[in-house]
Amino acid sequence: MSIVSARQPQGDLLRLSQLFVRTLREDPADAEVASHRLLVRAGYIRRAAPGIYTWLPLGLRVLAKVEAVVREEMQAIGAQEVHFPALLPREPYEVSGRWTEYGPNLFRLQDRKQADYLLAPTHEEMFTLLVKDLYSSYKDLPLALFQIQTKYRDEARPRAGLIRGREFIMKDSYSFDVDDAGLDESYAKHRAAYQRIFDRFGFEYVIVSAHAGAMGGSKSEEFLAKSPIGEDTYVECRACGYAANVEAARAPVPDPVPFEGTTEAHAEDTPGTPTIDSLVDHLNERFPRDDRPWAAGDTLKNVLFRLDHPDGTTEAVAIGVPGNREVDVKRMEAAFYPAEFTPFGDADFAARPALAKGYIGPGALGEEKPSKVRYLLDPRVVEGTRWVTGADRPGQHVLDLVAGRDFTADGTIEVAEVWPGDPCPNGDGILETARGIEMGHVFQLGRKFAEALDLKVLDVNGKAVTVTMGSYGVGVTRAVAAIAEGNHDEKGLAWPVQVAPAHVHVVATGKGAEVFEAAEKLATELVDAGVEVIYDDRPKVSPGVKFADAELFGVPLIVVVGRGLADGVVEVRPRAGASEQVPVADAAHVVT
Ligand code: ATP
Ligand code: MG
Ligand code: MG
Ligand code: MG
Repeated sequence: MSIVSARQPQGDLLRLSQLFVRTLREDPADAEVASHRLLVRAGYIRRAAPGIYTWLPLGLRVLAKVEAVVREEMQAIGAQEVHFPALLPREPYEVSGRWTEYGPNLFRLQDRKQADYLLAPTHEEMFTLLVKDLYSSYKDLPLALFQIQTKYRDEARPRAGLIRGREFIMKDSYSFDVDDAGLDESYAKHRAAYQRIFDRFGFEYVIVSAHAGAMGGSKSEEFLAKSPIGEDTYVECRACGYAANVEAARAPVPDPVPFEGTTEAHAEDTPGTPTIDSLVDHLNERFPRDDRPWAAGDTLKNVLFRLDHPDGTTEAVAIGVPGNREVDVKRMEAAFYPAEFTPFGDADFAARPALAKGYIGPGALGEEKPSKVRYLLDPRVVEGTRWVTGADRPGQHVLDLVAGRDFTADGTIEVAEVWPGDPCPNGDGILETARGIEMGHVFQLGRKFAEALDLKVLDVNGKAVTVTMGSYGVGVTRAVAAIAEGNHDEKGLAWPVQVAPAHVHVVATGKGAEVFEAAEKLATELVDAGVEVIYDDRPKVSPGVKFADAELFGVPLIVVVGRGLADGVVEVRPRAGASEQVPVADAAHVVT
């Protein structure tokens, strides 16, 4: 393997006897995903509070390399780096409406004079105001600014370690243009830079069209690293490459077809107060044991039921049934209440399409009780909507995170969310669903923030025009975790060289002074050649522990100086590959 491309002019020697690190043999109890488990066990990060992490020396080295890639690609498109405070006054966010819109996700605080502050979740307002402060002419534009900075969001379910933190690092950039064509160009540049960044991280990723959501604006795309642990579900057409987040995806609306739903749970069919109990009874009654559209052992999850109360109000109940249970409806009932809410937010997910279409109010997501979520439906949009559920087709009741579909009262499909198996909107292909981790997001904001905060410049004719903006984010700390997620095995991390905390891990095994002398010499030669080296020089640690630590750390190349020394060889072993015996004298050369 070649590490030449990753070499620094000056190498670096990390002696394990000195390095501030403790590895753990046990998985931390709160860790659900591999990256979280391994980053903690390998001593890269430590939890300080839920969703809040401390970076230790090894972790910090990876983070710095990830940041450096992002910074280089931002600079390459001419974006200039600035740095805003995280602690910000309320006013600009009040003007843009986001002080309220962000709801409980915003960390708010007061100073000693009771003035309101927030810890910024993102910085559109501040960048807009900064440019307004300093620039006034079309001649100043286009402009792109970025920062790599700590963000705060009081996420409802901080999970998976760095993947969803409450404090995390984002690279956020903002473009400023005098007209729409300029914005298109700025957006295209950022999009291309993001492709380079995610290529350099070695991600397998898709670019999906996305909902602009709280940002408003017109065009928006997300970069999703393909991963089964991702929280985003997207549909993809293998034939033409069309991909979209399920929240944004639109399949062509098919000709009206008679509704043949099989698990209909409409309250009108359920006499009495429509409670979960009656719903369960109803389902049991409607589907006798041997005539159920689901089979024992199937997982029925993510169902969003609509309930009509006798007083005329309507409610949606989203249910995430924990996986791998025998689902007959009696058992479902048992699953509703005591069962753990699935950590991946399944019920939340079931409600998302309804949220996206405005059937349920914003701010509802994430405020669920442990195993059941209730959302109030807006009666105006409920009109004509029969129910929303993840299980409307025979044979498709067992679906892992799948968007819902709506039906009008006469059983025709009204709004088409996409389903696996749907035709691709662009051609003959068939849509399939998959999961991804949102690594980056590019938005055409348009004039929303510039209008709210009155950012204008004089155009060629001396006329004041509102600036048009884009905003672009990369999850930097999330990227560290996502790279780890895609590069590990059961023994530990296995970093790609471009972000590894070091390039070579030299392990000295044995007791003889000659082993340590040879290892020291090799490590020093490598450092002189510009290589970053972890050198396990711990005198009293067993070879087994040293190998286990090396595999846990995940440095790309491991060099073992030990038994072979008597025959004049050392063992060179890629972290994920077969080992090779190399003469000591050649080792430094072979490795570099
Ligand atoms: P998500 O859908 O995962 O909540 P988001 O859409 O809210 O993310 P954006 O506002 O688009 O996030 O922020 C830009 C980028 O910041 C995201 O693409 C993601 O990589 C990163 N990010 C967002 N929230 C978090 C978080 N809680 N922890 C770590 N990274 C995050
Ligand atoms: Mg979010
Ligand atoms: Mg998102
Ligand atoms: Mg986003």
